[in-house]
Amino acid sequence: MRDVRMRGFAERADVEEVDAFLEEGARPLPAETVDITRCATRVLAEDVTSAVDVPGFPRSAMDGYAVRGEDTFGASQYDPISLELRGRSLPGAPFEGCVEARQAIRIMTGAPVPEGADAVVMAEVCEEKDGSVEISEAVAPRKNVGAVGEDIGCGEAVLARGRRLRPQDAGLLASIGWGSVACVRRPRVRLVITGDELLPAGSLPGGSKIVDSNSVVLRALVERDGGETLPFEILPDIPERIRDAMADSEADVVLVSGGTSVGQEDHAPRLLDELGRLAFHGISMRPSSPTGIGRIGERFVFLLPGNPVSCMAAYEFFAGPTIRALGGRPRAWPHRRVTLPLARKITSAVGRTDYVRVAIEAGKAIPLATSGASILSSTVRAAGAVLVPREHEGMAEGSDVEVFLYDDDPPSAAAAPSGAEPSGGDR
Ligand code: AMP
Ligand code: MG
Repeated sequence: MRDVRMRGFAERADVEEVDAFLEEGARPLPAETVDITRCATRVLAEDVTSAVDVPGFPRSAMDGYAVRGEDTFGASQYDPISLELRGRSLPGAPFEGCVEARQAIRIMTGAPVPEGADAVVMAEVCEEKDGSVEISEAVAPRKNVGAVGEDIGCGEAVLARGRRLRPQDAGLLASIGWGSVACVRRPRVRLVITGDELLPAGSLPGGSKIVDSNSVVLRALVERDGGETLPFEILPDIPERIRDAMADSEADVVLVSGGTSVGQEDHAPRLLDELGRLAFHGISMRPSSPTGIGRIGERFVFLLPGNPVSCMAAYEFFAGPTIRALGGRPRAWPHRRVTLPLARKITSAVGRTDYVRVAIEAGKAIPLATSGASILSSTVRAAGAVLVPREHEGMAEGSDVEVFLYDDDPPSAAAAPSGAEPSGGDR
């Protein structure tokens, strides 16, 4: 590979081209066994068929009396019918005998309806009188009785491979007797955070040092996308150290932050080309143009620019879809979307894809003036982002745009840092 340091990018790849390369390469990881108490949100890697009926016995849906329905025909408030009280059936402690004609069994919700009985009369229309029960309302056979397999039938296909398990799905697995289930393994993500200027999160910035915020953002994004971050440390701009971290064979995905461009201290592109393959370096987008993408063996490696907004946008465009795909989820951006008119025009350039932070006010999307790639607070002030596709020169004021919302919940009081808006170029 030509060493591009201090020379700039000769040409840049299109976002679509890079996306196609990633889509082609990322297949769901192999399955692992997951306890059902931890399987919610995981992606199912097998089809689930029930080997049992739920319920496995005819089940009372009421507190009342189990009877033969036909014995109650004609019963009314003025002409109650009296049946012999034979015993009781409780959940987990059924009545063992058979209910004969003109007999009744006291029964609770969830208890087995005994043999011979075919209906349950609710307690409100019954009155016990020494050894018998008076019933003042008729019930049809099967009334208030849950049939065997009414919920889930034996042999029924209940959940399909590829489904992202919901809490109630985990509950259903429990109800059919499953203790664990095969799920797609979560992608393991190695963060390689580079920069001599960085202090670990939790430090106070001072002098020429800044605090590493990228790892904090990336961890949360990886978590959102179903990945698992491996332990990491902040590395100085020393090629050998960065090489060792990038070579971590435990990882499915490596995210390198910083040192991805064409400066003297930008080692990652060359290292990736040495260790594996640097498929793309320099992408026609704003911010995040100094992004690099490649593979080391099966591993996907993303070289994310250090500028916080660039780092985040490059993650959203490239790393996020790949991590989701490896974990068996859809590649599409997971954000909720709304379509709104633009309050002001957005200027872009043909051939370039832009990631524009917007605020939402009075039903309109307002592009934020502070759009510099180093201005992390622009993403905090924003409600979401608008993507300007490469074939567009920009977007006109008043035109409808799709906003990828940062929040899942409806808007609440947004954090709005005040003061002058610093400037800075998006890259
Ligand atoms: P680089 O991509 O290494 O040239 O860094 C570009 C800019 O992003 C510089 O101003 C860095 O100080 C800043 N930067 C690099 N890494 C981080 C990080 N982990 N957190 C916050 N800012 C960073
Ligand atoms: Mg750096």
